[in-house]
Order: sequence, then C-alpha cells, then structure tokens
Amino acid sequence: MIIMNKKAAFYTLGCRVNQYETEAMIDLFTDSGFEIVDYSKSADVYIINSCTVTNEAARKTRQIARRAKRANPNSLVGIVGCYTQAFPDEVESIDEIDFIMGSSGKLQIVNKVSELLAGDEFDAEIKDYKELNDYEGLEVKRLTNTTRANVKIEDGCNQFCTYCIIPYARGPVRSRSEKSVIEEVKNLCSQGVKEIILTGTHLGAYGSDKKNKDALAELIEKILDISDIKRIRLSSIEETEISDKLIALIAEEKRVCSHLHLPLQSGSDKILKAMNRPYLREDFIETVEKIRKLVPDIAITTDIIVGFPGENNESFSKTVEIVKEVEFSKIHVFPFSIREGTKAAEMKNKLPGDIISAYSKKLRDVNEELMLKYQRKFINKVKEVLVEEERDHRTGMLTGFTDNYLKVLFAGPDAAQNSLLKVRLTDSADPHHVKGELVD
Ligand code: SF4
Repeated sequence: MIIMNKKAAFYTLGCRVNQYETEAMIDLFTDSGFEIVDYSKSADVYIINSCTVTNEAARKTRQIARRAKRANPNSLVGIVGCYTQAFPDEVESIDEIDFIMGSSGKLQIVNKVSELLAGDEFDAEIKDYKELNDYEGLEVKRLTNTTRANVKIEDGCNQFCTYCIIPYARGPVRSRSEKSVIEEVKNLCSQGVKEIILTGTHLGAYGSDKKNKDALAELIEKILDISDIKRIRLSSIEETEISDKLIALIAEEKRVCSHLHLPLQSGSDKILKAMNRPYLREDFIETVEKIRKLVPDIAITTDIIVGFPGENNESFSKTVEIVKEVEFSKIHVFPFSIREGTKAAEMKNKLPGDIISAYSKKLRDVNEELMLKYQRKFINKVKEVLVEEERDHRTGMLTGFTDNYLKVLFAGPDAAQNSLLKVRLTDSADPHHVKGELVD
C-alpha cells in the first residue's frame, strides 16, 4: 500500500531496543510512501515509541503526545510500546491520543494508521504480556547514522527483578532467528556500518527459549564468518550468562569489542536478594576474575541502583567496596525511584531522598576516580578509534570510541569521520574523555 502526501514524525523514549524499533517503523512508513519529518515539524501522524521504566518516563511520554497535538491539532497521535503495554488504561485516558498499540503489532502499524486516516475507529486491543510469545520480525533496512547500528536479537525477560516493570511491558523471552540477524548485518555492512551493538530486552537470555546456552556466542561466530563487520559490541549482559565460549571469543577475536556491560545493581547480598537478582556478590567477583584471566584489560562497565528499599550504610558500603575491588571502568548510577506496578514499589523501608542523593553522589565520585584509573592504563598506547560522524560539540575535535569504550578526542580532518583509525592516547581530558593524536 502506498500513501501519498502524508508526513509522519517519530519520537523515541528509552532504551536501544526502542531506538531500533523506531528505525524499523520509520522504514515501514517510508516504504509505504510517507515522508518522514522531524518531530518538531507539523505532521499528519505522530508516533511516540514509549518507555515505562520510571514514572518520569511515563510522564514525559504524556508531555510529548500533547506537544504533537499542539503542532497540528488535526494530526493522528499514537503511543506505542512499553508504557502502553504495561499501563493501557492510563495511556488511553490521555485526551490528545488517537490510537495506542502495545509491544506487539508494530509490523502492522502502517495498515492501522492507514485505516485511521480513512476514518475507521481504532480497535485498542492490547494482548496480555504473557501472550507475547512470538518474536516480531521488525527489521532495519536504512540508517541515518552509519557509524554504528543497534541490531535487536531478542525480546522479553523472565527475570522479574523486583524494581523492574519491563517483563510486564515486553513479555517472555523470545529470540530472533539467526538467519534474520545475519541478513540484517550483511545489509548494514553494505551500507557502510562499521560497528553493530547486539541488543535485546535481556540480551544474555538469547537462545534460552531454545535451550541453547551458547546461542549468543554461536551467533557472534556466524556473524564474524559471513560478514566483514569491523566491530561487534554487546549492549548489556548478566554475569550469570557469560559463557566460557563468549569469553574465549572476546579474547581471541579482535572484532569482538573488549567491553562487557555487566549490571551489578548492588554489592550487598541482602539487597541483591530483595531485588531478585540471580547471583550473589562473590559470584559476580568470580565471573569478573574469570573474564580478566583471559582478557586482562577488558572494560567492564555496570549499573548500580542506590537507595533500594532496606539499604543502609552497611549495605551501601558493601557496594562501594565491590565497585572498587572490581575496578569498573564506568558506573551508571541510578538513584532508586518508585516504579508503580513493581514489587519494590510496595516494599517498606524506603529511604528518604536526601540519603539516596548522598549515596548517589558518593558513588558518582568513586566512578570518576575509577574512570580516570582505567584511562591511565592506556596512556601512551595506540588504540583503534571508530570516529563518529559528528565532531565533539564543545571542542570541535574529532571524537570516537576505542573497542574498550574509551571516548577519545583528537585533531583531524572531516575525511576521518566514520572510519577506524589508529590514535595514540596522550592524556586524560576528564573522567569521560581521553586526549589523543592521530598516528599515520
Ligand atoms: S533482567 Fe531484571 S532489570 Fe533486566 S529487564 Fe529483566 S527484570 Fe528488568
């Protein structure tokens, strides 16, 4: 079906999976003749790919929907994705909304929109999250940025961490077929993409629905065999899902980035249990030791939630202790915030905001020390940097990432953009950037 003279605009909230799915929906609309315009412009259709991880993300989704209706009161405004799936009644009650769609059905979104444009009523049926059993075959064909691309290989999560709403928004684990992933990666390579980030709601669960614990490592091997992609990075993976095969691949294959994002969340066993995380602190430390035996300089980054209900000075100091022991190269600090609909929202012993802020500040300070410490290991070394398509907006310098996720700033010509270049790391610019110089 081709629709002429209609404009569509998209807004994405949340994670890499949402970014990927928006790109895929943009492809579908483009294939059907829609002109894609910036969200700030007047459009006939506005699609908001929503997030529900925090109450704040939900509030922002509502605000963005209202902005669309102000830009064009005659437009169709739709909210799709996680927020709608987890809280359909809440989303439907927003006055500015013309249609909603949950976490499934995005492949049919153009048909649905066309029916609405033709005057049909929208059927707002949202499947129960437990019935989201099929992997929906969204694909990304065209890209706006060809330096790196997210490639979604998995959807859903069975873990039900007590602070997290995602399993209710994404349903159970289901894996994308190898064939479909490989076709997409080949196509991305032919468009000049240098780095892919394998991503999923619970990436490390890839293949678990088919009872194959080595599925992720096997998929990476196949991608390396059949494509000339320059780099493969993993978005985030649980320490319990790191297989020996995966560690061996990182150690032996230069094209697999020397970087793992392993969410720790807390260093206290008591808090880990309250969070329903699937490991204890010693398990985590052992896994990191095992990885570092084969890949000593690997970047290990993490997420930590501070101020979880029941946390006290003792449990928080266990977190500070372990992050120093593990020497993460970067920590994303998330101050605990109540997400309605989760078990943690019902827990007693919630912490006052000033304590959560004090814990967050302390951990962010530790993070900066650790980031600088990790950078120092690489000063005077030559690393390959994948140069971004845009210069650093503060300094005007070229910027890019090493395989081990150091962000480098260096002087060079525009022609260097979107290529892999050798750069000598000369000094720390700040905890988040390293200075470098091009090596010919
Ligand atoms: S593993 Fe835990 S934090 Fe991650 S998506 Fe699943 S429930 Fe949420």
